Amino acid sequence: MARPQSSPSATTQDTERDACPCGGLAFDDCCARYLERGDIAPTAEALMRSRYTAFVRQDAAYLLDTWAARTRPATLDFDDAPQWLGLQIKGHRQSDETHAEVEFVARYKVGGRANRLHERSRFERSEDGRWRYIEGDLFD
Ligand SMILES: [Zn+2]
Repeated sequence: MARPQSSPSATTQDTERDACPCGGLAFDDCCARYLERGDIAPTAEALMRSRYTAFVRQDAAYLLDTWAARTRPATLDFDDAPQWLGLQIKGHRQSDETHAEVEFVARYKVGGRANRLHERSRFERSEDGRWRYIEGDLFD
């Protein structure tokens, strides 16, 4: 299928062919669908990956838009943002049509030290068909 982009720009093409931060395909074939082209993530895992990528790219608008209204922070800044190093999905369990959990490990570096964030996140699908992050439980 042809790409919908009508005027490909040589300046952005190089970076868009880079591997997606979430560890999937090229960014353009992976999370760019959700971050830049407005596609609806079909599963909580796809949404989780796209949110990780949004953290890497410091895309606050996307993160807030994919956060359940009742747990969403008012604003999001990246002043103390760590350097994200990679994402590993450990499990994905959809309990019914509108609820799912994703367990993952995200590696990051802060102050020169490497750390791991091991979390089980809960997601719900709203009436608009979009998955949103509710909250997560940390392991360790
Ligand atoms: Zn991705």
